[in-house]
Amino acid sequence: MFASSRSSFHPSNDVPAIRIERLAKDYASSSGKEVRALEPIDLDIKHGSFVAIVGRSGCGKSTLLRMIAGLEQPSSGALHWERDAGVESVRYVFQSYGESLLPWLSVGENVEFGLRHAFRRSPRQSSNRSLSEIESYLSEVGLPGTQVLYPSELSGGMQQRLAIARALASGPEILLLDEPFSAIDALSRSNMQDLLLRIWQERAITILFVTHDIDEALYLADRIIVMEEGGKGIARDIDVSLPRPREQVSTRELPDFLRLRRETLQLVLAGSQ
Ligand code: ADP
Ligand code: MG
Repeated sequence: MFASSRSSFHPSNDVPAIRIERLAKDYASSSGKEVRALEPIDLDIKHGSFVAIVGRSGCGKSTLLRMIAGLEQPSSGALHWERDAGVESVRYVFQSYGESLLPWLSVGENVEFGLRHAFRRSPRQSSNRSLSEIESYLSEVGLPGTQVLYPSELSGGMQQRLAIARALASGPEILLLDEPFSAIDALSRSNMQDLLLRIWQERAITILFVTHDIDEALYLADRIIVMEEGGKGIARDIDVSLPRPREQVSTRELPDFLRLRRETLQLVLAGSQ
């Protein structure tokens, strides 16, 4: 059975932000049969780390993220949170920015919505939402002066920046991003990667980032979880000890980057045979 999502464990010097224990998911198919989407997995996500999750389509990446976010109920297993942070400390940025934004609200109101639902903010603090606070979140993601516009007036890349601003405004401790840059052109995508790295470093949040793109995973993360095809769980847990700060051209030329790229690619391709 699914243990309480609020259960916490004893803090130590190296407390994981989330401890995932034997977490598994079955979906009921249209014929009424149970279909296993994810075999039981164990995973500790270290506080403040940047973890990428890669694997073939259908291997259960989104299912895992959605269970962590509380959007999907696990069929078995448990999630343990650092101290009592719980699922309220998590924010989710979807692949399709439309899912993360409220199109009937202006850009400024979308950020304000995030502020209103801020984690660990007193009601008094959240009622005091100045325009300058909203503007500071928009500036942080490179969207200054856009408060009165509507999401439909922004490009795809700008909408995804807004989705990130809104998530940040709600003060998350853990940010889950499910293929957030896959619909964005290559140059904007590099800018978005650097934006995310800056935010992660400045705010010391924990990030779980799902991507199909192994280069992107290596460029961003401390650790890559390679998922097995067909929901069979974790194939490999790879330590990405590339130096920081990362830089778009030189990091991708490092011998260690190329070695990790080859190893990870071989693993992912092997899982598709
Ligand atoms: P990924 O994100 O790695 O592409 P998903 O987590 O979306 O994979 O899906 C894992 C498996 O679970 C797939 O076989 C998919 O068809 C199935 N699945 C996902 N969501 C549902 C659902 N709501 N109902 C039934 N099956 C689902
Ligand atoms: Mg997915």
